[in-house]
Amino acid sequence: MNNTFVVDVAIAGAGIIGLSLALELRQRGLSVTVMERGQAMSSASWAAGGMLAVNDPQNPPELMPLCVSSWALYQKYLDRIESLSGQRVAMRTRRTLQEPKLGRISNALATTAEIAELAPGLDPSGHSFEWLEEGSVDPNDLREALPASVREAGGILLEATEVLGVEATAGGVLVETGQDRISAGMFVNCCGAWSGSRRWGGVPVEPVKGHMANLRCEPSRLSCVVRTPAVYLVPRGDGRVTVGATIEHAGFDETVHEPQIKAMLDSAVRFLPEATIPSPTDGWIGLRPGTPDGLPILGAAKREHCWHATGHYRDGILLAPVTARVMTQAMLGETPDVPLETFAPSRFDSW
Ligand SMILES: Cc1cc2nc3c(=O)[nH]c(=O)nc-3n(C[C@H](O)[C@H](O)[C@H](O)COP(=O)(O)OP(=O)(O)OC[C@H]3O[C@@H](n4cnc5c(N)ncnc54)[C@H](O)[C@@H]3O)c2cc1C
Repeated sequence: MNNTFVVDVAIAGAGIIGLSLALELRQRGLSVTVMERGQAMSSASWAAGGMLAVNDPQNPPELMPLCVSSWALYQKYLDRIESLSGQRVAMRTRRTLQEPKLGRISNALATTAEIAELAPGLDPSGHSFEWLEEGSVDPNDLREALPASVREAGGILLEATEVLGVEATAGGVLVETGQDRISAGMFVNCCGAWSGSRRWGGVPVEPVKGHMANLRCEPSRLSCVVRTPAVYLVPRGDGRVTVGATIEHAGFDETVHEPQIKAMLDSAVRFLPEATIPSPTDGWIGLRPGTPDGLPILGAAKREHCWHATGHYRDGILLAPVTARVMTQAMLGETPDVPLETFAPSRFDSW
């Protein structure tokens, strides 16, 4: 017979957003169950480059307050995950060389001598770069440590448990899974690229596919992120340099296409000529949760007691700490550190 569990908050989706929110809610004393239809941290949150790209010129300007707040929270967020899980989650880089958009140079350009110090393997010819004080993490580190930290903090994480539906009850919701039922005071949709399902009330989230791949290079030859309009390179400090990423509107197709990988790696090797391309290539894909205006969807859903925390598109790794913070504040009836009107699900009511 199916059991019914009672909790304060039920979360669908154990990517970085659902798990970081669970951690923050536990810190505030709420009981939390996270349901994941596959394995925790195995979708976009694992596939990502892990750049904490606060100053990416591709980001919509409205995103800046969230980016800045999240970056300010990041080191403490990693420390908390490390201390709960007992696993190391390092900031792998602390500086970025970014090729600015034409006519939009806001920082001093990097000199040849400066580039030679942190990126002696980089061939910058024909390009100019500015320095940014930005970090990066390896999502593989978070894949192990974040679920462990949620469990250690007292959260319940149910893997291989698909949420099939959510029904309103007096004062809360009843969450249906293939196995058990969860009776909760609140429900949060953290289903990433799958958040647009009618099950959750139909927010306009669409998958945006990205191919990624690893190069190999002697670690001392590149120790900062390099970001250009065509390609980015994220050194992990152990010989891997992660290269990304294509932007493809291909529905839920999760096939890895070798020509896309090859083109991306060729373009990266032009910047890092000493790097070698593994054979067979070491490539993968992920589905970003995209929204029509490129901004996340954070706040109360139309359905009572239900919330959305999704649509983080290219920045969910960066935005996880601030999302956890402001969502918790909003759900507890407090004033969020960053005003959420711009990100409210209701902005799509007339879509
Ligand atoms: C190629 C690529 C590169 C990226 N690079 C960066 C980067 O450098 N920096 C950065 O900040 N961000 C980056 N991103 C974006 C970032 O990865 C995402 O914004 C972030 O991972 C979204 O997290 P999430 O938890 O919302 O989604 P996900 O990690 O996709 O998790 C959602 C989870 O919900 C589960 N789920 C779905 N439906 C159900 C259901 N019915 N019941 C139970 N579970 C369900 C899924 O199985 C999945 O595990 C990148 C993304 C991609 C794809």
